[in-house]
Amino acid sequence: MRIECIAIGSELLTTRRLDTNSVWIAERLAALGLGLHRKTSVGDQREDLAELCLEAFQRSDLIVCTGGLGPTFDDFTKEVWADRFGVPLQEDPQCREVLVAWYAQRNRVPPPANFKQVLFPVGSEPLANPLGTAPGVWWERGGKRIVLLPGVPREMKRMWVDHVEPRLKPGAGGALHSRRLVVGGVPESALDQRTEAVRATHCDLEWTILAGLTQVELILRGRDPKALDAAQADLEVELGEDLARVGEGDLEEAVLDLLKARGETLATAESMSGGLLAARLTAIPGASGAFVGGAVVYTAAAKVALAGVDTALISRHGTISEATALALARGIRERLSATWGLAITGNAGPSLDTGGSNRALGDCIVAVAGADQFETRSFAMPGERQDIQLRSTAWALDLLRRMLAGGLAPKR
Ligand code: ATP
Ligand code: MG
Repeated sequence: MRIECIAIGSELLTTRRLDTNSVWIAERLAALGLGLHRKTSVGDQREDLAELCLEAFQRSDLIVCTGGLGPTFDDFTKEVWADRFGVPLQEDPQCREVLVAWYAQRNRVPPPANFKQVLFPVGSEPLANPLGTAPGVWWERGGKRIVLLPGVPREMKRMWVDHVEPRLKPGAGGALHSRRLVVGGVPESALDQRTEAVRATHCDLEWTILAGLTQVELILRGRDPKALDAAQADLEVELGEDLARVGEGDLEEAVLDLLKARGETLATAESMSGGLLAARLTAIPGASGAFVGGAVVYTAAAKVALAGVDTALISRHGTISEATALALARGIRERLSATWGLAITGNAGPSLDTGGSNRALGDCIVAVAGADQFETRSFAMPGERQDIQLRSTAWALDLLRRMLAGGLAPKR
């Protein structure tokens, strides 16, 4: 069965709002063992929607539209589908009663425009909306099914669970399961190569490599949980210390969990990343179990005042240097009495203020300091200022993660 989602609303084509409805529906379908084959967002333009409905009905067996069931002039999803089949709209008396009662409960009468919401294509079936005034539509035509739901996520979800899921037959093979593996410090192309053999062995699974700014994710999907276990076991061998996490959560969770398991704590000193590292860590509930706190040490003066770095050391090596990064990590570790200090310094651009050192744009240095071991790493990063800042937090987290996981021979 080919299934497609159409998200209707001009705001979905801007940065103001993301289409989260289709993503949610895709997950619900997957749990039933059904796959989503396509999703499209379309603005509130009648011709665009009409064209899309035409195509969708040709290629798909189940078409789910969300949005455009409101009372205003730019809500015409039902009209467009009715036009598609040359069928008129007709009022549903029961829905009219529900609408009037909805307003009566609020001591009002429905505005005239709202009666449009109780018109349905002849031959279709209204779907009750317990959370709003726009009923949905279930329509079977020529062996295909069309579902129209409101755009408001809360209403859409409730109606999906109440009305749509009970009418869907689970996929023949049963539910689709997925497994997520987070990999730190390995570029996408390298990961692609390194997993080639494992992917070939487990080609019955569906594989996705998702590269983000701060990590790469491997997503495996399949119907047999045992097959997923087997693939995961092979990946664990292949990836070794590069595998940061299995399941939900990102690098920061991996680090916090490792620290908690060891009963250890972390403090941060951030120059280039301006507090992003601390923000990532504190975004995780329960971070205080391992994260003590940190300082934003942007200028040389702040490095001296907040992390106790020696002024002479900064003059000698420059702010962007292994020596300064390490002094920051050691200083913040001591000041906050943490097991580990983690520091980031570098140049995120766009201007080339290298703090007296011989460093290029995008150069970043991260340092980890523990009681009797330390590590520093330099990276050259491409991208815009914000990308570089965010990436630097990933390198820092991944360096600490590797030390905690015992993957690095410590320098003493
Ligand atoms: P309804 O069919 O319930 O009348 P509508 O499209 O007419 O929906 P809007 O006012 O356009 O109503 O949207 C209601 C809210 O739902 C808005 O905040 C809108 O951004 C949000 N919304 C609509 N579609 C989606 C979507 N696909 N994903 C996430 N949010 C959405
Ligand atoms: Mg809309």
